Amino acid sequence: MRIKKENSVEVIAKISAVKAAIEKQKSSGKSIGFVPTMGFLHEGHLSLVRESLRRTGYTVVSIFVNPTQFGPKEDLQEYPRNLEKDMAFLEELGVDLVFIPDTLEMYPEGFKTYVEVTDLQDNFEGRSRPGHFRGVCTVVLKFFEIINPDVAYFGQKDAQQSVIIKKMVGDLNLDVEIQVLPTVREKDGLALSSRNVYLTKDQRKAASILVNCLRKAKNMVEAGEKDPYVITKEMTRMIGRQTLADLDYIAIVDVGNFEPLDKIKKEALIAVAVYFGKVRLIDNMIVQSKE
Ligand code: AMP
Repeated sequence: MRIKKENSVEVIAKISAVKAAIEKQKSSGKSIGFVPTMGFLHEGHLSLVRESLRRTGYTVVSIFVNPTQFGPKEDLQEYPRNLEKDMAFLEELGVDLVFIPDTLEMYPEGFKTYVEVTDLQDNFEGRSRPGHFRGVCTVVLKFFEIINPDVAYFGQKDAQQSVIIKKMVGDLNLDVEIQVLPTVREKDGLALSSRNVYLTKDQRKAASILVNCLRKAKNMVEAGEKDPYVITKEMTRMIGRQTLADLDYIAIVDVGNFEPLDKIKKEALIAVAVYFGKVRLIDNMIVQSKE
């Protein structure tokens, strides 16, 4: 039997109202957990929300399709939305506050200030999506200012994003703990993503190539392979055999700072981005060398 919550979820669109609601909670001694999302929620998002509910006293989820992190040729207009379903999920979980600002609330006319994590923002995802991380950092810093969370939750699925956010938090001395949680996957291993709905049936089937080539890379590293070139070559070959897939990049990098590795020592992060038609999917795995 589902017990009805006494207080249902509070939905707020205005920054001033969010600040007031959170101030009240903070002064009553509650710790604030925050999960930023662009909505169209799936189990990946919900795993972050559940952890926040477990670990903090008051959980805030934002739903905001952030225009500054989309390039001019990207899918801002088509980005999937389903607010009703999102709210049903969040109510069911017992989230305390959902912040749903509109674009002008976050970026009023004349907005001029952006945050950049230099260098880190220009590689891999940043190279394929110029300006993306500038938009991400700007919106996340604004959210941190508005919500003042004790802990913020991000997914390992967006590995470079997590590294960049941690760097921003360190460099700017922000008083927030960043928690990065594991990637939630479909049965065949495909990482859950709001963008998976764009895939045709055939592309969806083919999309398991991302996790399959990452698993292959993991096995190679565990079997003693230390040369990123050899691993990249094998992954490229596997993706090349999948006719519906177009490789964007393979990254074999340091887990902590996303710097490319010449040689895999103990640990590495392997990330991959692949196009299926216009749909671009990313995935990654942390691999450990057994030697
Ligand atoms: P998005 O709505 O795509 O901006 O994602 C919001 C948060 O959910 C980000 O921190 C993502 O890394 C995280 N996320 C997205 N997909 C997954 C997944 N499959 N598993 C875990 N976290 C995810």
